[in-house]
Amino acid sequence: MRKRLQINFFVIAALAILAVLSLTTIVFYNLFQNEVIENLQTCAHVLESNVDQLSRMDRETFQSREMNQVRVTLIDKEGGVLFDSNAEADKMENHKERPEVQEAFRNEEGKSIRKSSTLDKASFYYAVKVSDGRVLRVAKESESFWSFLIRVSPMIGGIAVILVLVSVILSRYLASSMVHPIEILAKNMDGSEPVTSYKELAPFIHTIQKQHEDIMKNSRLRQEFTANVSHELKTPLTSISGYSELIENGMATDSDTIRFAGEIHKNANRLLVLINDILQLSQMDSRDFSADFELVDLTEIVRECIDMLQLNAKKQGIRIEWKADVSFFVKGSPKMLEELVYNLIDNAIRYNKENGQVTVSLGNKENHIILSVKDTGIGICPENQERIFERFYRVDKSRSKETGGTGLGLAIVKHIVVCHNASIQVNSEEGKGTELIVSFEQANE
Ligand code: ADP
Repeated sequence: MRKRLQINFFVIAALAILAVLSLTTIVFYNLFQNEVIENLQTCAHVLESNVDQLSRMDRETFQSREMNQVRVTLIDKEGGVLFDSNAEADKMENHKERPEVQEAFRNEEGKSIRKSSTLDKASFYYAVKVSDGRVLRVAKESESFWSFLIRVSPMIGGIAVILVLVSVILSRYLASSMVHPIEILAKNMDGSEPVTSYKELAPFIHTIQKQHEDIMKNSRLRQEFTANVSHELKTPLTSISGYSELIENGMATDSDTIRFAGEIHKNANRLLVLINDILQLSQMDSRDFSADFELVDLTEIVRECIDMLQLNAKKQGIRIEWKADVSFFVKGSPKMLEELVYNLIDNAIRYNKENGQVTVSLGNKENHIILSVKDTGIGICPENQERIFERFYRVDKSRSKETGGTGLGLAIVKHIVVCHNASIQVNSEEGKGTELIVSFEQANE
């Protein structure tokens, strides 16, 4: 990239140098031409006042006056040559058709530049109409464009070489200053070293670093998740393997066998619940469900979940309070919403105190449907309130395991909340109870 940029910059600079030098040469040659013509004009006007004297003068006298650089010709009204400083007038052809002479007859003055017989010379003519109608023409041979070019080419070549060298250095510097921040960024994606660059690159650097940060974070979370999954699966599997080995070796009495089989059953169920939660999370990670969303009656879902959990609540003497007179609709997946409500009420029961209470309510506030699940349970200390949504994070490990928790319930809840463009909030006081509030956007029917 650096080499390519450098070449591109250099090509642009070289083209610019070529164009500027060519134009400068043309401009200078034009100035040079103008100067020669102006000199001839001055000369013609000086001679104009002495034209009578001139017509009487012979060629030798004229040349001896050191005017031989300039050729003077006097032409009568018909174009016939009356006098010429460089040739015998009577042997010269009619000059009426010469452009500068024609122009002088028409406009009092005329000029013309013509190629000479030799390539390196050009003939410059300036003609003035004298008061009696004759035309006085002065001419001079001077450098042609080509000989001018040859004369100035060493100087132009020198300038070109200097400019090319400067542009090589500049294009190298420019290419470097463009590529350098990108190279630094590539070596330093985590942003540990500040990348100094031009301001247009700042948003790009920021986005790249942010993306890199996200990728790293995701990869770290995935690694942690995999490690946690293995650990969580290992515990029940070790129990299953241990108890079954005891039975296999005949080391268990009849009553032990029944107890061990019960343990195996319990751990196998635990494995099933765990695998189910893990599968659910990975499914949600890999798919966008929003395409399948439909209008869901949240009131109905809450009623069904309470019915399913009523038995568990009764076992612990917990009362579920729930008032539902209106149907509240949200746009979403019925299965996921059921999972969300079930997990929240299940937690409110599992982390409650004996004879406690769970209050579930649905309401409408500022274009949002608010679901609240409140318990009079053990509560969560402030520093853990954010972390409970992390995968496998448990505040009360033993109670979680005892009650069949996987540490994934609220992670699934959080995922569902994000999928539904909703938000979740925890209000909790240790020892007093917890309230989880989910706020859904109101469905536009
Ligand atoms: P688990 O399967 O362990 O219940 P969750 O993800 O559902 O996992 O919850 C994570 C942790 O948050 C739980 O282990 C528990 O410590 C805490 N928690 C969740 N809900 C409540 C609640 N209503 N009251 C007190 N603590 C709770």
